[in-house]
Amino acid sequence: MDPARSLSISKPLLQVNDRSARLSVIARFPEGPQELWFAVPGAHAQKLSSATCDAFVVALYAAAAERGLDVRVDGPMSKLLLHSLNGQGGELLHTLLSRARKVRVHAEETHGQLWGGRGVYAGFSAGVDSFHTLVTHTRPGLPRDQRLTGLFFNNVGSHGPDELGAGMYALRERRVRALAAQVGLPLITVSSNLHSLLRTSFQRTHTLRNVAVALLFQKVCGTFLYSSLVHYRDIKTRAVPDMSYADAVLLPLLRTETLTCQSTGGESTRFDKTRIVSKYPLSHSALDVCVSHRMSATINCSACWKCLRTELALELLGTLSRYESVFQIERYRRCRTVYIASVLHSRDPLLGELREQIEELGFTPPVAARVLGRLAPEAALRALLRAYARAYARRDAARFELPKSPVPRPEPLAAGYVTQRA
Ligand SMILES: [Zn+2]
Repeated sequence: MDPARSLSISKPLLQVNDRSARLSVIARFPEGPQELWFAVPGAHAQKLSSATCDAFVVALYAAAAERGLDVRVDGPMSKLLLHSLNGQGGELLHTLLSRARKVRVHAEETHGQLWGGRGVYAGFSAGVDSFHTLVTHTRPGLPRDQRLTGLFFNNVGSHGPDELGAGMYALRERRVRALAAQVGLPLITVSSNLHSLLRTSFQRTHTLRNVAVALLFQKVCGTFLYSSLVHYRDIKTRAVPDMSYADAVLLPLLRTETLTCQSTGGESTRFDKTRIVSKYPLSHSALDVCVSHRMSATINCSACWKCLRTELALELLGTLSRYESVFQIERYRRCRTVYIASVLHSRDPLLGELREQIEELGFTPPVAARVLGRLAPEAALRALLRAYARAYARRDAARFELPKSPVPRPEPLAAGYVTQRA
């Protein structure tokens, strides 16, 4: 395979010490090698599937496809996963990732290994979709393979770049750890440098990033539940701003002999999920929907697009006051008129759901919002809302400092590590 037109992935290297474990590969791009690592607390070292490249192939697939690079895997990988990436799965990703070209994956060795994982895990961020998964997959009477047995909390790019992202991850990790303890589910925290190797935005590749984490844990995880963003009626596989639109189709194509990947929550609209979650008391003090990468006086900045969408939904449901400890309601009040004006005319399907509910529930939007919605273009309203959010973020940055010492981030070949090549 021509090194100038391919990406090669080495066998994984596992390094373990008392505090943490780190599984890494060398990814050789045409311009040179880069290391890709995932790190977990030492207690989870034995759960890592260090004898297969599955996780790394899925993690790096988008980077290769968007550059038209064939992938050479210098180690073992799942026969099923390889077959999918060179067939249905690869075709779907080629359709889904706007710049992707068709590429082939070649593996040194394939296997049909059963790694033993029987647990049911979900990625958990404490957002509405995550809480909905937690509520619906811990109900009594569920079939065994639908009942949650553990949670992942990942740093694979959603918390922001570099030190800022590491600080946000550390802050959120504390909250999610406390919540997992309250619901009695084991939590595996995973950090990574994946975001520094991928050029594509988190939104366009997050399904692959999070499935990669589940693939690391095939010794304990047999079913990976991934919370859907949209209702089944809004599934799309082309020209989408967020990979989630295709999750229900994509996830089953990323399975291995051990691991089944499943989208969950597509039976409910975002609004219905918010209704279900708002009846779950633990969410009242822990809901985290915010996309701001700044620490705030409350868990949520209360002014970014995702905070506003949730606050309006909660207001329509009559449950916003239950969330006074996680939202700064006065910020919402200041942005509310402009936000409702933007919702009234948006083409975003998730805002369309809110518009439907405004009509269905007989909610009367403020007169100013209706007038503004008619007079101002949606782009101008969105720009104004972004300006509000930026101003609040600047204010928060001046007032709050993120944690300095995030979860263990072991350095390569640090003293005290025992290393083992799979
Ligand atoms: Zn926010």
